[in-house]
Amino acid sequence: MMNIVLMGCPGAGKGTQSAKMQEKFHLYHISTGDVLRAEISKGTELGKEIAGIINKGNLVPDSLMISMLENIVKGTDKGIIFDGFPRTVAQAQALDDMMKRLNRKITQVIMITLPEEEIISRITSRRQCKKCGEIYHVDPSAPMQTCKACGGELYTRADDTAERVKHRIEVYHQETLPVKDYYQNSGVYKEVDGHQTPDQVFAEISKVLEEGAK
Ligand code: AMP
Repeated sequence: MMNIVLMGCPGAGKGTQSAKMQEKFHLYHISTGDVLRAEISKGTELGKEIAGIINKGNLVPDSLMISMLENIVKGTDKGIIFDGFPRTVAQAQALDDMMKRLNRKITQVIMITLPEEEIISRITSRRQCKKCGEIYHVDPSAPMQTCKACGGELYTRADDTAERVKHRIEVYHQETLPVKDYYQNSGVYKEVDGHQTPDQVFAEISKVLEEGAK
C-alpha cells in the first residue's frame, strides 16, 4: 500500500498534483491546509485561533496538527497522500511514530521543486473555487471569475498576498527544508521538477510511484 509524503514550497503544485494522484492511484488525500481551512469555516473558537496563525503565514503548533491528523489517518484504510505535512522535523518524527503504531509506513517522499522566483507570481495569481476547491491561475489584475468546473465563486486565500508569501517562504526555509534532510537518506526520497506543465509534472510523479510499487 502506498503512503506518500508530498513536499514542496508554497505554490509548487502540491494541491494540483494530489488531485491527479488521488484519482489515478485511488489514494486518500489529506491536505493539512484544507483540514485547517475547514475548521476555520466552521467558525469555532479553535477555528478562530487557527485563522489568526494561518493568515499571518505562520505554522500552527505541531501538537495540534499531529492530533488533528491522527484522527483522520485512523479513519481510512486506503493508501494516503500527505499534502503539506510534515512541515517540521518534529512532525516528521511524530508521523513515523504514528505510522508504526497504526502498522503503516511511508513508502515514498516526493519533493516538487520550483525556482524561488516562480513562487510569488504563481501564488499571487492563484484563485480557488469556494465550492469544489479547483485551483486556477488568473491574471491578478483581472476581475474575479467563476469556476469552469462547477460555476462556484473563485476567491484568493488570505495568506496568498505578496507580503504573506514572502513570510511563508522564510518559514518554509527555516522549518520545512530540514524535513528534506530528515528524509533524504531514507531511500524513499525523490525529487520532481515542478517547473513544467501540470501534466508533465504528473507524468514524472506517476513514474516514481509506479517504479516504487514494483
Ligand atoms: P497550505 O494549504 O498547505 O499552503 O497550508 C496553508 C497554511 O496552513 C500554512 O501556511 C500553515 O499556516 C498551515 N499549515 C498547513 N499545514 C500545516 C502543518 N503541517 N503544520 C503547521 N501548519 C500548517
